Amino acid sequence: MAEQKIILITGASSGIGAATAHQLASDGHHVVLGARRTDRLETLVADIRAAGGSAEFHALDVTDADGMQTFALDAHRKHGRVDVIVNNAGVMPLSRMDALKLKEWDRMIDVNVRGVLYGIAAVLPLMQRAGGGHVINVASIGAHAVSPTAAVYCATKYAVWAISEGLRQEEKAIRVTVISPGVTTSELADSISDEGGRAEMREFRKVAIGADAIGRAISYAIAQPADVDVSEIVVRPTASP
Ligand code: NDP
Repeated sequence: MAEQKIILITGASSGIGAATAHQLASDGHHVVLGARRTDRLETLVADIRAAGGSAEFHALDVTDADGMQTFALDAHRKHGRVDVIVNNAGVMPLSRMDALKLKEWDRMIDVNVRGVLYGIAAVLPLMQRAGGGHVINVASIGAHAVSPTAAVYCATKYAVWAISEGLRQEEKAIRVTVISPGVTTSELADSISDEGGRAEMREFRKVAIGADAIGRAISYAIAQPADVDVSEIVVRPTASP
């Protein structure tokens, strides 16, 4: 079994975050899970422990920089280190630009961009002091191509890609990985309030992969030796265009 790492996962209450928590715990790591729906996290931690894994959870809103600091510092105090953070929390209320859903644009920027930056800010000084660490940011195939109704969502994911690449170039001892999933079964589309956005998503969702596929990709990146940085993994359904 691999050396046990202390791994923070944001947005662990459903979809990719929950599947990643199961995968990494079954790899033998200790997972520290954060999200707003703590009832979901409580059940997830109980399931992981019942399967012989090691996990804990904390209420976390990634748009709150102080809350993110507390999430990371508490884990560091308790375990003496933070080896990996998976900045996974995200929202995707799709709509055409001319629907002018300014509040939804703000929410995507707050969760998908500020949330990732706050996650990095919370662990970077700890990892620099420790002389190593691993930052894993969940972007999307939407970090590489734009489609109608997804302009703002894709903009946030292009930003996640750019932030990750910049961090990777600056840090000599910290590994940085971008995970870019294609269409994956999760609750992500539930936040779409716009009918055009829902219609676009129905088309996309005709071919989707399970969230466990993304968990395995993250597991692979973590399992590499410290001198090997898997800088990006794109994982998509086989039949996707
Ligand atoms: P889900 O909706 O199932 O999961 C999203 C997670 O983000 C939930 O756990 C939710 O928890 C959390 N979250 C949302 N807002 C906040 C917040 N303010 N603070 C803390 N946590 C928050 O969707 P996915 O699993 O699909 O999404 C995970 C990531 O994968 C996202 O970044 C998404 O953009 C990305 N992605 C997904 C794809 C897909 O097809 N599913 C494709 C490409 C990328 P809670 O509400 O409890 O806080």
